[in-house]
Amino acid sequence: MECSSVVDGNVEEVPSKKVIKFNPPLYKQRYQFVKNLVEQHQPKKVADLGCGDVCLLAILKYQKCIEELVGVDINEGRLKWNGSRLSPCVGDHLDPRELDLAITLYHGSVLEKDCRLLGFDLAACIELIEHFDSEDLAKFPEVVFGYMSPAMIVISTPNSEFNSLFPCAVFRDSDHKFEWSRMQFQTWALDVASRYNYSVEFTGVGEPPTGAEDVGYCTQIGVFRKKAEAAEMAVLEHHGEHVYEVVYTTSYPSLQQINYRRRVVIYLVYREVSRLRRKYQVSLRQDELEAEFVASGNQTGKFTSGLPVPVLTEDDKAMEMAPQPFCIEDKFYVPLQRIIAYPRLGHLCGNVEKLREFLGDMIELNCDGSAVKVDLNDCSDF
Ligand code: SAM
Repeated sequence: MECSSVVDGNVEEVPSKKVIKFNPPLYKQRYQFVKNLVEQHQPKKVADLGCGDVCLLAILKYQKCIEELVGVDINEGRLKWNGSRLSPCVGDHLDPRELDLAITLYHGSVLEKDCRLLGFDLAACIELIEHFDSEDLAKFPEVVFGYMSPAMIVISTPNSEFNSLFPCAVFRDSDHKFEWSRMQFQTWALDVASRYNYSVEFTGVGEPPTGAEDVGYCTQIGVFRKKAEAAEMAVLEHHGEHVYEVVYTTSYPSLQQINYRRRVVIYLVYREVSRLRRKYQVSLRQDELEAEFVASGNQTGKFTSGLPVPVLTEDDKAMEMAPQPFCIEDKFYVPLQRIIAYPRLGHLCGNVEKLREFLGDMIELNCDGSAVKVDLNDCSDF
């Protein structure tokens, strides 16, 4: 890209500068940074302040630890247009999350106090503060650090020192009210942190090219953590005002919801019983073939059935001590004690009584209710 500057009314050609391309793109590196923080610190409640097109929220909704995800933006149209990106999909119903997840998008300004934003573990302000004029920038710390007071806050903003590598750059976006050098951002951040009892660490994403390392990262980032004494003193004013307008809300199927847990338990029991029955049928057939082999009087050859050798899963190996499946006439039985010994089913049910309750009338049990009962020769796979 060519770049020119005006000197005394004459257009002066200046050396062209290469367009800098980031791989992955810079915005993805910012989202990845927040995702890494979530993986590292396992927050339950996460807010994205100035969430825009909800791209970050769409990534974070897959994080297993998060139970409440909130986005706030002043641009109502963007929220309404993009809200449905956060809806559960078919896969979320078929393979529900372990924990509940509720997502809410609020239309409102992060410069206003709304008590539904209290008590969060992490608030992300990605490429937000540079859109504030000086008056709004002055209000921001009091609302976000002072009032919302989440345990952790991550703020990203352009590093103006990097702009010298861009062709013709003044500001990177026409709506930016400022872009700060590292010194400016760090001075502001350290002052805010000390006023509201947070610590802050600085980093960034978007590595500078070789030879230009002095300019620092393209996006500078501050990670603020509430100090222990401030966290202990925090009093949550849950009875405050609701200022924001809810524009979108959804909740995800989870194993905390009894209907989903029951469905998953039934599916896993069907699958396991079916697998054990198949294994048993193969071993019966193998015995038959071996008996025929011996009866044929073949003294030389070694017996091989040619049937597939059942693969032992890790669970099978761990469960050698569990009660074994058994067969009476043409019925095949799998003891509930065995089923509950499978780690995943044990985790989902807790005990045999609960397992029995989940199976209800969906799966037949023997007369004393201690084992699942199926036809040995039923070939239908569950
Ligand atoms: N954080 C998003 C991202 O990284 O993709 C969007 C960043 S975009 C550059 C800035 C966003 O901040 C816009 O969606 C804008 O509407 C929002 N915004 C600006 N001022 C705001 C305010 N006072 N309260 C809430 N959102 C605001």
